[in-house]
Amino acid sequence: MPNSNLVLRIFLCFLLSFILLCGCQNKHLYKDTRVMLGTFVEVTSPDKKAANIAFHEITRIENLLSKYNPKSEVSKLNNSGNLNVSPETFFIVKRSLDFWRLSDGAFDITVAPLVELWGFADKKYFRPPEEEIKNILRLIGSDKIILHNSDNMIKFVLPGMKIDLGAIAKGYALDCAVNKLKNAGIKSCLINAGGQIHCLGDKFGQPWNIAIQNPRGKDFIDYLELKDTAVATSGDYEQYFIKNNKRYAHIFNPKTGYPADAGVVAVTVIAPDGLTADALATAIFVLGKVKGKALAEKFKDVKVKITEEKDVQNNG
Ligand code: FAD
Ligand code: MG
Repeated sequence: MPNSNLVLRIFLCFLLSFILLCGCQNKHLYKDTRVMLGTFVEVTSPDKKAANIAFHEITRIENLLSKYNPKSEVSKLNNSGNLNVSPETFFIVKRSLDFWRLSDGAFDITVAPLVELWGFADKKYFRPPEEEIKNILRLIGSDKIILHNSDNMIKFVLPGMKIDLGAIAKGYALDCAVNKLKNAGIKSCLINAGGQIHCLGDKFGQPWNIAIQNPRGKDFIDYLELKDTAVATSGDYEQYFIKNNKRYAHIFNPKTGYPADAGVVAVTVIAPDGLTADALATAIFVLGKVKGKALAEKFKDVKVKITEEKDVQNNG
């Protein structure tokens, strides 16, 4: 007969294994990644259904707002210069014009022809001659977009104008995905779409951990602990080319027609919603540290980290 001490020990061993097993099962995170919005979109959640719900909603937004999809409303508008659009497309263009006004023109969705001219749309990077930049500049300016609230009509004043929602639609897409997740009863999820992040709830009672990449290196320069919030980073270190020792990146100063040159290498904005975080990060990148901070202060519950060239070691 085994002695009672041994029986107790075996029982405790089983109990501990059972508790650990249950704990591990409850703490499992499902991860899925898809190529969408021109980047990798990764969805992490304890709920297996989360990824499909998020991917489905992001696909819907992409089909509506992508300039790369010839059937999207944005492409149809860019081709015709005049379109009655869905309330959703109208809403996002209207919000873009709000950010244009608030940023004194630094955030401007009419930069599309510049993005194409410099080769950022097809990744055939090219430093255009001065005259070509000047010529394209006449098409730039959100004051040349007319909105009719009564029938959701968007009209461009000049032929050849185009819009690009690349600096705002990623944030909006993640906001929409998070709303769908909430409606499905999902309380915990992290979506990362190439620098645009949305944390829904927390991770087993703890904040989600977000690492911010060093724009000039392979390490991280910051770690954030976040719950129920959105984060966007705009920078000059992923889409850029170097010509004659000068870096040209994909975020433009709409007034000069050249890539923004305010001494900023990365801007991270933490905001309650992704649309605001996305648009502000781009606007602040163009405005630079002083004007950018002043813009961020106009928004409630927004935090900003601005990294300038002098702040980072050139180790990458
Ligand atoms: P952000 O700073 O948020 O945005 C920068 C982008 O906004 C630039 O690339 C430019 O497009 C535009 N921009 C530049 N200057 C300004 C300015 N001053 N004001 C406003 N906007 C400006 N990429 C692909 O390669 N292929 C795709 O099929 C594709 N599909 C996409 C579909 C959707 C719906 C979205 C939102 C993006 C898609 N992209 C695609 C990526 C897109 O072209 C941009 O590269 C991306 O959105 C940049 O995001 P960011 O967070 O890096 O930078
Ligand atoms: Mg942006």
